[in-house]
Amino acid sequence: MPPPPDEPQPYDELPSYDKPPYDEPVPHDAPPPPDEPAPYDAPPPSTSVLRTGGSGPAAPPAARGGRDGAVRGNPLSAPAPRSDDVDVFAAHDPVRAVAGDAMSDVLVLGGGAAGLSLVHRLVAGGAGGVTLVEAPDGPGRPGERTWCYWDRGGGELDEAVRASWGRLRVHGADGGAVVVRPAPFTYRMIRSSALERLVHGRLVRAPGGRLLRATADAVRATAHGAEVDCTAAGGRRITLRARHLFDSRPLPALPPARTLLLQHFRGWFVRTDTDRFDPDVADLMDFRVPQPRHGLAFGYVLPLAPDRALVEYTEFSRTPLTTPAYDAALAHYSRRVLGLGAFSVEAAEQGVIPMTDARFPRRHGPTVRIGTAGGATRPATGYTFAAVQRQSRAIAAALHDGRRAGGTVAAPRPYRRRTLAMDAVLLRALDTGRVDGPTFFTDLFRNVPPLRLLRFLDGVATPWEEWCVGLRCPVGPMLRTALELPFLPRRPLAPRAEESRR
Ligand SMILES: Cc1cc2nc3c(=O)[nH]c(=O)nc-3n(C[C@H](O)[C@H](O)[C@H](O)COP(=O)(O)OP(=O)(O)OC[C@H]3O[C@@H](n4cnc5c(N)ncnc54)[C@H](O)[C@@H]3O)c2cc1C
Repeated sequence: MPPPPDEPQPYDELPSYDKPPYDEPVPHDAPPPPDEPAPYDAPPPSTSVLRTGGSGPAAPPAARGGRDGAVRGNPLSAPAPRSDDVDVFAAHDPVRAVAGDAMSDVLVLGGGAAGLSLVHRLVAGGAGGVTLVEAPDGPGRPGERTWCYWDRGGGELDEAVRASWGRLRVHGADGGAVVVRPAPFTYRMIRSSALERLVHGRLVRAPGGRLLRATADAVRATAHGAEVDCTAAGGRRITLRARHLFDSRPLPALPPARTLLLQHFRGWFVRTDTDRFDPDVADLMDFRVPQPRHGLAFGYVLPLAPDRALVEYTEFSRTPLTTPAYDAALAHYSRRVLGLGAFSVEAAEQGVIPMTDARFPRRHGPTVRIGTAGGATRPATGYTFAAVQRQSRAIAAALHDGRRAGGTVAAPRPYRRRTLAMDAVLLRALDTGRVDGPTFFTDLFRNVPPLRLLRFLDGVATPWEEWCVGLRCPVGPMLRTALELPFLPRRPLAPRAEESRR
């Protein structure tokens, strides 16, 4: 009986370090040390999209098929209690904060999926002295996002789960549908505002728990851990100190890679005039959409009620689309493919996830990098949330057990080496067009038992399971690509700013 996917990952190398701790102060934006990948000379204009994502403006009127064309308030986006308006740290202890005498046991920079998950895990385990620094509202802070993952439920995140689905469907380009039941697992959706509410609430109730709304700037190593300069509201400067520092802030640039594809998408939260959705079935990949000349495209439907759903259009390709181009693709998918009839768009969500075989160092000076910045995004799928949960569990356990080396707790590998090697092959095979994406993914769902496939997609399959999945792949093109990869250098690759050509 294979272990369930939510069991702690048997990391290949735990503990492991990318490099020894620094003696010298290391500002966050300082040039990386020699073994660190060099950033791009100049970040391309589109780099910022890699850091953003979230609820955007609703579709323009032309793209709406609504009864009245009105964009109604989205109940999913109902404002969370605004713990974010409060500088909780300063409210508790303004003098010490301003005096720069604030010492925590654990300091987490960035309160997105990874920062929130780690704080949640630490606080749930009874840890005290945890400080979370999250950027104030503004350009540096992503909007509301939807995070989905597989789980069997009964976990600590249940409170934040907005919806779950017991059946998953994939539509091939030929129109044929495959439906799988991954029981006991369900596909689950968490809204970022719900996770924030849950974690912020627990953090500020925990002993020594602090939430600070500020921009974290320079990071320095100290004799007892690390020190971080922050800028809070009104330009107030605060220096925080901690024994352990975890950083989920987006990297200024992607590390060098052999392949870089972008998973880019826009979704509409739609409300239909009549019941059009089965709330127990999520459409993971619907390839009945026109395919781009490079890469692949699919629809993604997460029903929230018989008349409400998140309907997305996604591409894996080299360049994001413009918002009007996404809206045109969504309008076509909603009307022509799904046949939704009359509907209105209540909110929109848009994002870009880099899919790359770059190596993401997990240590940078006194900092342990977590989340996407620490390589938690699975190269071949873009899924991150499940790996972030495993990473958070492992870090919390290591801190709890006092497992550390060089004064710093180990950052476990988010994925095994062989998983990353397989992903590198698949990414390049997709990028070169040697493998037909829609056929590849549809065949996986047609031919691989659901639980094995979910474990594979989560990056926790056993070697035997991976071998079985490998047999279902187009062997010739994959083998050719695997033989070619060792001879290709990793180099700086920038996402292109212009719209993808069709
Ligand atoms: C729209 C969207 C939907 C996604 N859906 C899924 C999904 O369904 N399933 C899945 O597995 N993955 C999904 N992903 C991929 C991945 O899970 C997310 O990108 C996830 O948010 C990554 O978590 P993170 O903590 O690494 O980064 P983020 O969530 O981006 O968190 C980084 C945080 O750092 C903060 N920050 C930045 N700079 C500073 C600073 N100087 N000081 C203080 N704070 C700072 C930001 O405000 C942000 O909150 C999605 C991505 C996007 C963009």
